[in-house]
Amino acid sequence: MAEKPKMVNLAQKDLPEAWYNVLPDLPIPLEPPLHPATKEPVTPDDLAPLFPMGLIEQEVSTESYIEIPEEVRQVYRIWRPTPLVRAERLEKYLQTPARIYYKHEGVSPAGSHKPNTAVAQAYYNKKEGVKRLTTETGAGQWGSALAMGCSFFDLELQVFMVGSSFYQKPYRRMLIETWGAKVVPSPSPLTETGRKYLEEDPETSGSLGMAISEAVEMAMEGDDVKYSLGSVLNHVLLHQTVIGQEAQKAFEVFDDYPNVVIGCVGGGSNFAGTALPFVNDVKAGKDVRILAVEPASCPTLTGGKYEYDFGDIAGMTPLLLMYTLGHEFIPPPSHSGGLRYHGDAPIISLLVKEGLMDACTYHQVEVFDAAVMFARTEGHVPAPETAHAIKAVVDEAIKCRESGESECIFFNFSGHGMLDLAAYDDYNSGKLSDV
Ligand SMILES: *Cc1c(COP(=O)(O)O)cnc(C)c1O
Repeated sequence: MAEKPKMVNLAQKDLPEAWYNVLPDLPIPLEPPLHPATKEPVTPDDLAPLFPMGLIEQEVSTESYIEIPEEVRQVYRIWRPTPLVRAERLEKYLQTPARIYYKHEGVSPAGSHKPNTAVAQAYYNKKEGVKRLTTETGAGQWGSALAMGCSFFDLELQVFMVGSSFYQKPYRRMLIETWGAKVVPSPSPLTETGRKYLEEDPETSGSLGMAISEAVEMAMEGDDVKYSLGSVLNHVLLHQTVIGQEAQKAFEVFDDYPNVVIGCVGGGSNFAGTALPFVNDVKAGKDVRILAVEPASCPTLTGGKYEYDFGDIAGMTPLLLMYTLGHEFIPPPSHSGGLRYHGDAPIISLLVKEGLMDACTYHQVEVFDAAVMFARTEGHVPAPETAHAIKAVVDEAIKCRESGESECIFFNFSGHGMLDLAAYDDYNSGKLSDV
């Protein structure tokens, strides 16, 4: 009998030809974004100063599949399809009858899932004659991914990086510059919003909300400059669905299929990309559960209100109907910068609200316990964000040990932690605490 594979690498010809659009499959229609001033539903024309039409169309598309342009697939092929790996050593360590699999998005050049949308967004902007993009970044994962995307399509990029991270986490800033983009600590003197915050408090460490306000303001300055967002919006989630679609193909090779699909949630993009292709299984009543994992220090899906809110602190972005902690909420500093967002993707919020997905939270120290368990059994050092998903996987696997049930648990390894070693240093030396 042939040995069961430990890892399945699909062939390049198995790269998905289309992104999967969940909008027509939602149990109820998504409410539209509202204009920040008039509170009326936004029109495509309202969004045109910020985004290219190609992306605005995807935001509201009713097509179930949207073809991935060949130029984008050519770039994806540098690292896609990504491997689907069976975490057998972790299973043995946990003495669980469960089968654990993970999709390894950490193999991209930027080290996370984020290039899946960065490359697509750079492509659509370039195609419509845009010369320069603006964006914000927390710890630098999104800024670096978009810097790479812009370098592939010859676009300039201005990144507003949350001030505290700019100084404390220099390596992703260096990556951003290496890929040819400009990056400043936010708040910055480059925008009116930034100057206002600096005047109020010259020592401010900044926040993601402030950085978004700066990037949006700069994008309004001209026709050939636009704004780019790395999570939350429908088109971003759409681009990430290559993850779940590839996984479904690779599971055929394993001759297995998940009962539990798990991902960590910041704005919801990697989780959506992993889980949305499984939503129709849940709707059809199959034995599949979907679980979102967030930090206890920023519990949007589990502790937020389901209501219209702004995406940024200054109230310049359209209002989105989502679970939110309030746009003025500034989460306490933690090592999972990518999960510190006050809101969540409207698509994910709706699916949680309608009961098609569940959500749970974990504290920082137990998350790092799981991260180190994973590193010592499977080798790969996860990003602190990813470790939230791993903690939930470990708990599911332990439940299986106790019940004797053999579930198939699938999670997204959203990124590696090789640029987050300072956080591991804190953990290893006992300096890490719950926030
Ligand atoms: C940015 C990031 C996240 C969180 O963002 P989502 O949009 O929720 O996916 C999770 N993991 C990693 C490694 C990240 O870089």
